Amino acid sequence: MLSNSLIELDRAHLVHPVASYRGHERLGVRVLSSASGATVTDATGRQLVDGFAGLWCVNAGYGHESIVEAAARQMRELPYATAYFGLGSEPAIRLAAELAERAPGDLNHVYFTLGGSDAIDSTVRFIHYYHHAKGTPRKDQFISLEQGYHGSSTVGAGLTALPAFHAGFGIPFDWQHKIPTHYTYRNPVGDDPQAIIAASLMALRRKVEEVGADRVAAFYAEPIQGSGGVLVPPKGWMKAMRDLCRELDILFIADEVITAFGRTGPLFACAEDDIVPDFLTVAKGLTSGYVPMGAVFMTDHIYNTIADSAGASAVGHGYTYSAHPVCAAVALEVLRLYEGGLLENGRKAGARLMEGLKSLGDHPLVGDIRGRGMLAAIELVTDKERKTPLPAVADPSRRIFDRAWENGLVIRAFANGVLGYAPPLCCTDRDIDAIVDRTRKTLDQTLEDPDVRAAMV
Ligand code: PLP
Repeated sequence: MLSNSLIELDRAHLVHPVASYRGHERLGVRVLSSASGATVTDATGRQLVDGFAGLWCVNAGYGHESIVEAAARQMRELPYATAYFGLGSEPAIRLAAELAERAPGDLNHVYFTLGGSDAIDSTVRFIHYYHHAKGTPRKDQFISLEQGYHGSSTVGAGLTALPAFHAGFGIPFDWQHKIPTHYTYRNPVGDDPQAIIAASLMALRRKVEEVGADRVAAFYAEPIQGSGGVLVPPKGWMKAMRDLCRELDILFIADEVITAFGRTGPLFACAEDDIVPDFLTVAKGLTSGYVPMGAVFMTDHIYNTIADSAGASAVGHGYTYSAHPVCAAVALEVLRLYEGGLLENGRKAGARLMEGLKSLGDHPLVGDIRGRGMLAAIELVTDKERKTPLPAVADPSRRIFDRAWENGLVIRAFANGVLGYAPPLCCTDRDIDAIVDRTRKTLDQTLEDPDVRAAMV
């Protein structure tokens, strides 16, 4: 009863992110009611292994009492403190310091946001400010990668290169440019890592020539493209692009909203890639989704250029909830849990996950298996030789998602037949094995679909 009335209330009032509004009204919401470890329970009592950590964010897993305690303690003591007017709070200051200590290189300055989109949006503002400060205000053109995702803010959605975020919104803006992605499985230059890196370098050089070397402000990349389908660049790709940006005098922004905080293994994927970007953005795993928070890291040079230019004037960028004490208290506790064993468990679980997914490699529908750490994908095809995607009528994002759900597994099913995995780092061996077994069952069932069968002959 409760669940039925919730479905009606949801239908009538709650506007869902990135949804077909009419489609959602027709299907109705699925209500989640509780969770523990890597398991979520829906309002009907169905238990599922959350193979996607909510929205690749609950890295620590569900039900950590110490996080709840940290939030409650902070709420009792000081539920809010503005960071405007020269004010501050202990958890936010400590968190900035702890993060700066762990971040690559001299990314020593942290601006807190509420999530990833406003972190990206903030970088755009800071970059404009930086170039004005340097006396190069004409550097106002931005480049990002096709199939990249950089959030859904008014400007960030135009750096994002996924059609659904553009259609009907009048973006991208004319200062937002794209170059092809590295997408190893479907790269026109083939799958040789060096050829892919060379092609990306050439594409960036060409785009900068086309736009004008004196016009390009910044280049954005995710260490692994998440929402574009978990696209893992060849080893050395991030470093090569970072070095080229330095050579071309373009700022390099590593968008680690998904990849940070153990998702790929370490706290920051940039550490594995051996780079120090000019800006680094995080969110999601920063608080493991328990409360909303994101952050922008900037290097000493960027910070000092902005600070010196502003002098006694205010740098006019701020949010009411920047450096929120409750979110910071949660982030500090989450960080303690990561370093107290969760990162290590995530590395082990990630290896088991990859091994398990690889065991699906001979399934007739599996074309590609890729990933790093606890971030992985399998790409489904109907012809392995030709890499033919599942037919649109197979409606993978709905049908496979629903089927996995029925089998007790939450995954991300992309419209093109890529299945994404980003389980909590707390996963046990049993959780990981359940993810793999339930995926196999889901694939076997999908293979029996008449439209999929028809596409295979
Ligand atoms: N950047 C990346 C790489 C992301 O994956 C996301 C969200 O998935 C964002 C930015 C936007 O973050 P949010 O949804 O917290 O606004």
